[in-house]
Amino acid sequence: MSTKAKKHPTPRSDRRPSPVSRTAGAATSIRGSVEIGSVVTVGELAEALGVSPIELIKALIQRGVMANINQQIDFETAAAVAAQFGVELVERTPEAVQQEKSLAEIVQLSARDPNAVPRPPVVTIMGHVDHGKTKLLDAIRHTNVAEGEAGGITQHIGAYQVEVQGRKITFLDTPGHEAFTAMRARGAQVTDIAVLVVAADDGVMPQTREAVAHARAANVPIIVAINKIDLPTANPARVKQQLAEIGVIPEEYGGDVPVVEVSAKQRLGIEDLLEMILLVADLHELKANPHRPAIGVIIEAKIDQKRGPVATVLVQTGTLKLNDVVVTGATWGRIRAMFDDRGRKVRRAEPSMPVEILGLEEVPEAGDYLQVVEDERTAKEIASQRALKRRAEALTEARVVKLDELQRGLQAGETRELRLILKTDVQGSLEAIQNALAKVNEELQDVGIHVVHAATGAISESDVMLAATTGAIVIGFNVRPDVAARRAAEATGVEIRYYNIIYQLLEDVRAAVAGLLAPETREVVDGVAEVRDVFRLPNRTVAAGLYVLTGKAARNARLRVIRDGKVIHEGTVASLRRFKEDVREVAAGYECGLTIENFNDIRVGDQIEFYHLEHVPRGR
Ligand code: GDP
Repeated sequence: MSTKAKKHPTPRSDRRPSPVSRTAGAATSIRGSVEIGSVVTVGELAEALGVSPIELIKALIQRGVMANINQQIDFETAAAVAAQFGVELVERTPEAVQQEKSLAEIVQLSARDPNAVPRPPVVTIMGHVDHGKTKLLDAIRHTNVAEGEAGGITQHIGAYQVEVQGRKITFLDTPGHEAFTAMRARGAQVTDIAVLVVAADDGVMPQTREAVAHARAANVPIIVAINKIDLPTANPARVKQQLAEIGVIPEEYGGDVPVVEVSAKQRLGIEDLLEMILLVADLHELKANPHRPAIGVIIEAKIDQKRGPVATVLVQTGTLKLNDVVVTGATWGRIRAMFDDRGRKVRRAEPSMPVEILGLEEVPEAGDYLQVVEDERTAKEIASQRALKRRAEALTEARVVKLDELQRGLQAGETRELRLILKTDVQGSLEAIQNALAKVNEELQDVGIHVVHAATGAISESDVMLAATTGAIVIGFNVRPDVAARRAAEATGVEIRYYNIIYQLLEDVRAAVAGLLAPETREVVDGVAEVRDVFRLPNRTVAAGLYVLTGKAARNARLRVIRDGKVIHEGTVASLRRFKEDVREVAAGYECGLTIENFNDIRVGDQIEFYHLEHVPRGR
């Protein structure tokens, strides 16, 4: 079950309610009011209402909303359930948050300021995996680096600039649309132009379409780079045809999308692409006013052991200078040092220039705005205000399966459906489950079960994305998500449920449709290790030499043996050793020896997932 990673430390609600009824549904009159942000987790709401999470979860389930303690619910739902406890909720739109939002407007207004001057375009590279985004970014980066200067370009700050015909272009160095979407979700529009990379041999693929959808939604012009034209199997004409079919009409077909053919590998056509970017930039008259206090957006941020918080800022308007006092997100600082994309010290950064800054108190988040303010006192004040009220800006939207909608739909006589994405280990189980689901579907009268996608194999990122866009739950039968899928599920809040018994799966689906589904236990993954070696011990048991990749291997954990994304065994640890010593746990980055209770079929390359179960209050 996916639990959402909280993006911000959760401030306590600043006003506690007077003690209220502890019985769900009993209260009729309003006994107090509490201010909350527009999105809260069930746990936070329970605290704000002064009731136990279990009571709150029960009350939510009565309303047909399934949510565990870490899940977020929207204000409307929170307000409805709070009323049941006799508490009126007041939605908070903090000043500091509003202020933060209006920065985007200031940036836009500054483009129309009489003092505004042309600025370099900011470009994001998007496209399907393996179509050559990284390679293209690399090729572009090398365009105007003189031989011998190569050392200077190893610097990675999340964005870089190149110069073409004496003009600059800024590239965001994180390919893919995830970063793009995350920024947009925070209200920051950074990208002026999207370069859509499509491999000439592979053509339009699912993520190509997704990228187009993202760029369109953000109203960002697209330039297509048909890549890998060096391949004998390259078929650019076919790619153009496919693009036209998805509404991206190339100029030569009478549309308005420029298409450039390139080979990132052989560095062909790169200059043409860059010139095209300048042309499109000219059409859009990109401007900003450098003569004002700077506003920028954080592209990347991290903590550096030696230098403290380090952040890359893309200046959007104004000029950022050394010693400026800045506020960004819920932190602030005085700019102690600035470096450009080649690691050179600079004293000022003008619009569209990415710089790495030192001097922040804490690490901000990508997508946070950065703003120059008058003095430290103002900076501290705004930062602490935001730290308190940050949760209203929660990046992830509440994505709770709303069974109440389902039920309301039923009452209204509409047909509703529970959407599923089904992944299984083998074709046999896939068919068995599909047939069983079809039967359940027949039993149900007004509710439909709709299998959006069913296939064998590990749960992938694209499964999760599909679930996110269709409002589906992902069901894994004897299969697990890969790392990218896990990350995507965390980011989108998509729920993944795992089963190894068909009967249980069907029970849960029935329960879900009946509006009763609540997780009884939740899995918490402790760590993942890889089998690097296999030995046969004198007593004929097989021991595995493990390398712990993430988290930890734990003696008392449960485990799964995963081969090619499929679960081939579930069980427990028989022994866990380091240098012949029994140990309780082994951290990531270390090796250890493992034997598994009643299981000897371990092979080099298998992954071992260590996990434990956590009880979650049940609403039934
Ligand atoms: P990304 O997933 O979109 O970032 O793709 P990568 O940049 O990692 O490239 C995927 C694979 O395609 C790598 O093996 C690259 O070497 C290869 N590749 C990228 N561009 C070209 C190209 O222009 N021609 C050829 N033949 N291969 C390329």
